[in-house]
Amino acid sequence: MLKSNNPQLTSWVETPEGTDFPIQNLPFGIFSAGGSKRVGVALGTQVIDLGVLAELGYINIAGVENKVFESEYLNDFMMSGKTGTRAVRERVSELFSSDNNELKNNTDHISKVLVEQSEVELHLPIKVGDYTDFYSSREHATNVGTMFRDPNNALLPNWLYIPVGYHGRASSIITSGQPIHRPKGQQKPNENEPPTFGPCKLLDFELEMAYFTFQGKPLGQSISVDEAEDYIFGMSLFNDWSARDIQKWEYVPLGPFLAKNFASSMSPWIITMDALDAFRCETPEQDPEPFEYLQFEGDKSFDINIEMYIQPDGGEENKVCKSNYKHMYWNPSQQLAHHTVNGCDINCGDLMGSGTISGPTPDSYGSMLELAWKGTKPIQLSDGSERKFILDGDTVIQRGYCEKDGVRVGFGEVSTKVLPAL
Ligand code: MN
Repeated sequence: MLKSNNPQLTSWVETPEGTDFPIQNLPFGIFSAGGSKRVGVALGTQVIDLGVLAELGYINIAGVENKVFESEYLNDFMMSGKTGTRAVRERVSELFSSDNNELKNNTDHISKVLVEQSEVELHLPIKVGDYTDFYSSREHATNVGTMFRDPNNALLPNWLYIPVGYHGRASSIITSGQPIHRPKGQQKPNENEPPTFGPCKLLDFELEMAYFTFQGKPLGQSISVDEAEDYIFGMSLFNDWSARDIQKWEYVPLGPFLAKNFASSMSPWIITMDALDAFRCETPEQDPEPFEYLQFEGDKSFDINIEMYIQPDGGEENKVCKSNYKHMYWNPSQQLAHHTVNGCDINCGDLMGSGTISGPTPDSYGSMLELAWKGTKPIQLSDGSERKFILDGDTVIQRGYCEKDGVRVGFGEVSTKVLPAL
């Protein structure tokens, strides 16, 4: 076990009971406090300014230059790979542990290093180069297949063999707090009439998680399932916005296009795979046995609770579903091994979406399409209104956390308000 993951660790920085960011977490993000963007680590209600901490001489890790902490994105820091990023997190853990006195009694340095989270602005933490979205939840794929094709053959024949995915678009990835406008596009609401054009009427969220890669291997080489985790930096919450009516009309034969590339929202703190190590869990049994290049040993998935809330304009939050990353049929190592098995190269800062994660029960479905079952079972909100899909003025909030042995490692939140079409 990494020293930083010891459940007994406490910090001399006071962290509130139930915080997403205890000393066992230490996620990385990009923040500004009136000045330039820089790399920070969340601890309780504080942000640790790594740029200042490094400048003051507290971080001396081989292969990690101080200037990477004064960057607009985490990518420069991520270029130091698993070894460098792990060493920095371990060092931060050591410095802020209760039994360490290096910084604890230096009030001058502390005042320069710590900033209240309420006083900072959080930014998109990673410059995403390429974005791939998988389709790895069996329950989600089954629900969609049942609704749109055939309940008796809901899964397509390839699904149990291939971690199905598609290449998305990185330019429209945004972070928490940035509103989106309802997308416009072509739809075909009536089978027997020509298509129409206008604002999307079936706007949906997708409850997903994303992981972000370190620099991979050169084009032509593959990353095996056993080494895959060495190439993964960490994870965030991911709401992959979807326009269902645009999707339905456009997706044949080449797959999703404008229904998916108008916005995808990620949370601003990246929880490292090191922090998630304590929350490993089994995945669903795989039958038929996967091809050899997808076979793995040990626990390669993570027990992450994920929730979605809808907050009507001026109203209160309504929890509409609760799912878990552990429901995924294909784990992240299998996804990465599959992605590169043909020689496709991955780069530092690539984003891999899980696909919508639905659980086995109706309250664990990860999209409005499934929760309201194609509009046939509207969701009741506390203000008396109903939702089949997302309305203008609604804010959709995603939260997530792991919990074990009295330690909670949280992801914070990603919140996105939907504004009317332009
Ligand atoms: Mn998706």
